[in-house]
Amino acid sequence: MKRIYTEAEWKSLRFGLFQENKSLGFVPTMGALHQGHLDLVAESLSQTDYTLVSIFVNPTQFNSHEDFQNYPNTLEADLALLDSKGVDAVFLPSTDTLYPKPPQLSIDFGHLSRVLEGKFRPGHFNGVGLVVAKLFHIIQPTVAFFGQKDLQQVAVIRRLVFDFSFDLDLVVVPTRREIDGLAMSSRNLRLDPQERTIAPLLYSGMQEVKQHLLSGMSWKEVKANFLKQLAAQKQLSIEYLELVHPETFEIYETFSPLGPCSICLAAYVSKIRLIDNLPIIE
Ligand code: AMP
Repeated sequence: MKRIYTEAEWKSLRFGLFQENKSLGFVPTMGALHQGHLDLVAESLSQTDYTLVSIFVNPTQFNSHEDFQNYPNTLEADLALLDSKGVDAVFLPSTDTLYPKPPQLSIDFGHLSRVLEGKFRPGHFNGVGLVVAKLFHIIQPTVAFFGQKDLQQVAVIRRLVFDFSFDLDLVVVPTRREIDGLAMSSRNLRLDPQERTIAPLLYSGMQEVKQHLLSGMSWKEVKANFLKQLAAQKQLSIEYLELVHPETFEIYETFSPLGPCSICLAAYVSKIRLIDNLPIIE
């Protein structure tokens, strides 16, 4: 597996792939890899000729300095894992490589920047948009792989690709969960054993919500029940729970089985912020 640190190193390799007419799969990550990331990697390996994974903890998408500072770093284990899976190359840019100067441009995704993650993490999608646009320009993938776990991020990237006319396909990979239903996340590493036992309540709660909606209960009632039930857990606090259109993120006040909708939530388990979502109607 090739380790690439600079744009120049990658450009010559990319040119070779281009000349051989090879497809290039790209999996952007922030490291601390788990099976969810590896699912994206497996998709890329099966769908494309050459797979490049990037590992870069992007400072511009963190709205909390503490969260950025505490983001787990397991680089050597990550590289060994990727190598063992047959990944062709890994891109490991430094912050100076990607941001020789602080970016002046900011990207406003309209409604997507103002609701749910956009609302509670101001500036987050601007940072995501900037780094992903930079990476797309540098890497020039034919296919890019993203996780459904970050549903609103997928919607943002879809807009980015459309509005900037990036010549690539997006593939969205389903959320990988632990056996007890907790969505895999690099942040789970920061949960202590007690917090780890509480975190799966988010998924079981969402499954209950789904059942109740499909059996005809009103969204207002289902939401109130969910919030009440979880309020009993001292270490758990829900930041938001919304029913949305999975692409536009229009927020629904009532449930209709006639069009696509997903529930999305963010919650703190003690100090650790987790997000998850579940499609209700696909
Ligand atoms: P991150 O390293 O958290 O920036 O995630 C890198 C990519 O992996 C993003 O496209 C995420 O949506 C995706 N991802 C993270 N966790 C999961 C998961 N549990 N299942 C599927 N994809 C995931």
